[in-house]
Amino acid sequence: MPYKYDDQNIFAKILRGEIPNDTVVETEHTLAFNDIGPKAPVHVLVVPKGSYVNHDHFHSRATDAEILDFVRVTARIIADKGLAPGAGGSGYRVIGNAGPHGLQEVPHYHLHILGGRPLGAMVP
Ligand code: 5GP
Repeated sequence: MPYKYDDQNIFAKILRGEIPNDTVVETEHTLAFNDIGPKAPVHVLVVPKGSYVNHDHFHSRATDAEILDFVRVTARIIADKGLAPGAGGSGYRVIGNAGPHGLQEVPHYHLHILGGRPLGAMVP
């Protein structure tokens, strides 16, 4: 069954400017902002501006430009926050929840970037 996008979800409202956010990076195709309930010292949500429900929806429908921008913004935040182990950081976790088993709460695709403390075995 094809995905139906709910344009009343909270991230759609943030993208339309109806709800404020604490922006970390904004580009043509991507908005990244701090999670309202951070689970770690760094907890950034990376959100494509297009209307995609989850990872598989985004990667099957988005343009190459949107995907490249999203991937690059994610990498830039990891670098800017000093998390990258290859550059002396202590590491991080990138998580995308989807569907009932993934416990996705907000039905607009996003990745969580978590870091700044040992993250253990738990996921957000
Ligand atoms: P999900 O389970 O959908 O992957 O996670 C959604 C995330 O969005 C949660 O970590 C939650 O704290 C965050 N969130 C929910 N509402 C808002 C909001 O209005 N603003 C921000 N910045 N984050 C939110």
